[in-house]
Amino acid sequence: MNRQAENAAERLLQALKPVEACHLCDSRDPADKRVLGNRGVATHDAFAGDRSASWTRADLVRAIQCRRCALIYADPMPVLDQIDLGSLYHTAYFTQSPAAVTPNPARLATILERSGLRTAPSVRMLEVGFGRGEVILAAHELGLETVGVEISPDLIDALQRLAPIETHLGALPGVVLPPASFDLVYMSQVLEHVLEPRQYLQAIHRLLKPGGTVFLSVPNENSLYFRIASALKHWRDGSTYHLAPLYTPYHIYGYSRRSLTRLLNQEGFQVTGYDARVEAASTGTSGLRKQVETMIFKTERLLNAGYCMDLVARKPSVPSEGHP
Ligand SMILES: [Zn+2]
Repeated sequence: MNRQAENAAERLLQALKPVEACHLCDSRDPADKRVLGNRGVATHDAFAGDRSASWTRADLVRAIQCRRCALIYADPMPVLDQIDLGSLYHTAYFTQSPAAVTPNPARLATILERSGLRTAPSVRMLEVGFGRGEVILAAHELGLETVGVEISPDLIDALQRLAPIETHLGALPGVVLPPASFDLVYMSQVLEHVLEPRQYLQAIHRLLKPGGTVFLSVPNENSLYFRIASALKHWRDGSTYHLAPLYTPYHIYGYSRRSLTRLLNQEGFQVTGYDARVEAASTGTSGLRKQVETMIFKTERLLNAGYCMDLVARKPSVPSEGHP
């Protein structure tokens, strides 16, 4: 195991703090904590390394589901500062993706279509956590006015080498941008990683024009695969698949349609669209596993209950009570 990964794991252990109140409904009653199973702690980099090290102990972190609001969260929670958090997301984080980054106009078209902006004469779009930049590059190529926010300096540099797009380094709640200036905010695979999901939604609400749209993508903890895999894991050794992958603070919150809708409503948004139809491909190596997984993914598609969940929400055109 490399030294850097070992250091990250050590910092992670020191950062674990018990959760006193549910982030969504503020319940402080320990009876509301339903234990879904053990998640353990390890870093992405180190996972292939020494599994006997103290920080890989399975029972260090549990996945909890709040009985009142259905939010899933890690407990204890790895509370890392922004620099440590930023250092976890770098170009090497995307090792499973091909080396060359290519724009993804198909995904952009879906986002614009479901946001009701396909035929809009001009769109000013913010992407939060653009990662390798597949969507923001497509938006830039289409002629949209695009701005990107990223927590990783490494990913900002990589995008800058590809296109002259306005970028800001940092976590969204702390980034200074003109209020009420965007038609669309796209945020994919971010809200499950951050310690303050509510602050992210508040910042987005502030940045959107009245009537503007937020398009969120997060893992669907209610997907058939999550539920079946978790039940099997729990039966086998008390662990769970929920919050996967949690090795590092990668996923610390888990959402369903219900819990994310509630969070959006609380922050003054009206949910206008839901989709979880994307059919995943099995990564199983054995023939049987492949067959079973493929069958689950097909069923998920039929039930609109797949692993990838898109939720579209609108900032009302007229300010609502408590939300400017
Ligand atoms: Zn709750």
